[in-house]
Amino acid sequence: MSAAPASEQPGDGHRRPEVSFETRMATVEFRVGSRPHITVDGDTCRGCTTKACVHACPANLFAPTADGGILFNYEQCFECGTCYMICNHEGAITWTYPDGGHGVVFRRG
Ligand code: SF4
Ligand code: SF4
Repeated sequence: MSAAPASEQPGDGHRRPEVSFETRMATVEFRVGSRPHITVDGDTCRGCTTKACVHACPANLFAPTADGGILFNYEQCFECGTCYMICNHEGAITWTYPDGGHGVVFRRG
């Protein structure tokens, strides 16, 4: 059985117009609270060989340091929970939602 031509792929009739990452990000607002809603225990991270959070965070908020630790900044967090789900070192990440009135705000562009 041959594949359908590209113009007849399922879902084509409902495809949204291409929107760049930068354009999408321009519609996102971060209301930064003074309390970090996510904290990372650098001592635990030093023993982590995968550093999975560095690759998994869609906002690129985890950076490995030269001494094997992790530098983390909560301010532009999407609150997606991916880092918490992917980290397999108990106690490395403490995750809560931001306080009321703070955090990410998604708007339609
Ligand atoms: S947060 Fe978890 S996955 Fe990321 S470096 Fe620390 S222990 Fe590893
Ligand atoms: S919740 Fe999502 S965006 Fe926020 S730090 Fe974790 S992976 Fe990154």
